[in-house]
Amino acid sequence: MKKFVYADNAATTQLDMEAFEAMKPFLLSEYGNPSQPYSFSRSAKKALSESRAVIAECIGAQPEEIYFTSGGTESDNWAIKGSALVNEEKRAMITSTLEHHAILRASSAIERLGYPVAYLAPTKEGIITGNILKSEITDNTFLVSVMFANNEIGSIQPISDLSAISHEHGAFFHTDAVQGIGHVPLKVNDYGIDMLSASAHKFHGPRGIGFLYVKNGVPLAPILNGGNQEFGMRAGTQNVPAIVGMAYALKKSCAQLNRNIEYIRSLERILLTELNGHGVLFARNGGDHTLPGLVSLSFPGLSGETILHRLDLKGIAVSTGSACDGQNTEISHVLKAIKLEESRARGTIRISLGDTNDEEDVIIIANAIAEIVKSRG
Ligand code: PLP
Repeated sequence: MKKFVYADNAATTQLDMEAFEAMKPFLLSEYGNPSQPYSFSRSAKKALSESRAVIAECIGAQPEEIYFTSGGTESDNWAIKGSALVNEEKRAMITSTLEHHAILRASSAIERLGYPVAYLAPTKEGIITGNILKSEITDNTFLVSVMFANNEIGSIQPISDLSAISHEHGAFFHTDAVQGIGHVPLKVNDYGIDMLSASAHKFHGPRGIGFLYVKNGVPLAPILNGGNQEFGMRAGTQNVPAIVGMAYALKKSCAQLNRNIEYIRSLERILLTELNGHGVLFARNGGDHTLPGLVSLSFPGLSGETILHRLDLKGIAVSTGSACDGQNTEISHVLKAIKLEESRARGTIRISLGDTNDEEDVIIIANAIAEIVKSRG
């Protein structure tokens, strides 16, 4: 039987079986509402605070700096809208054209409310350098939001430089680390991060759960109003099973981080060596400093869409643009942002390898691509 090869781990990852087992009691028997005072809710309440502590430890934060959300999109929206709402004097925000739509569209939403937003253009490697930020930032900037690593091309940003420049101007620094958390070492204080968004389904946790890290003292208004959950900052009964699964998955990813990075980088090298061995012509996007396993490849003169569908027929799942835009045949805004010429952009696919892949997978992928390219897509 043909082996199914999943190589779209930047879109989502397989739920870790042990994380699922950890969630099960809270789905079935320990279903008490953690906000209730009676003893039946005690285990849900305990699970909530233990999960918060586990997550905080993984990113070098304090437990009370972790707020549970429904995922990356909500965390991004909250950081931007919540900062705008709380800021009375400063009006300007800065982000980049590389960001995920959760950031771009939340930024347009505050623009419509009268907050000017500047969208920084990256280098062709997909980097927002300190000098690019310096050209735009003023003392009227209340927030700078630049993603930790890009979801389409994998470029990792110089976060410490960007946060330092933001702080020099009295602005707070937020990063969408949805693709970074659990995949690269990331302690918030090493990078001077004030707020950070994360999503569990990118690191083998369940979908629909995430968190926003907010450094103690950083002002932020709630955007979901209602009950007093999450220290009065994010209303709504917490999804305890999903939170437990997220904490479990993150702890496991962090414990295996160095081994995973080394392993996934080795798969990446095998993939590229195999493609070269087949004489396939391609260019890699995203510069030299990319997320482990995130391989954006352009095959000039070919259609990425066609390659994706032909790989699908062979039982291989990859992506073209951003996963959340899987239906869209437009050139992705990220490839436009790095000014990739149109023929190269149209011939781009994203292979995202993870720790669930093996050497056989990457050989299957390379052989299939070689066959497709040789028959001209
Ligand atoms: N930010 C980035 C960089 C992403 O890659 C994604 C998902 O693809 C999101 C935000 C949205 O996260 P979620 O699916 O948890 O809403």
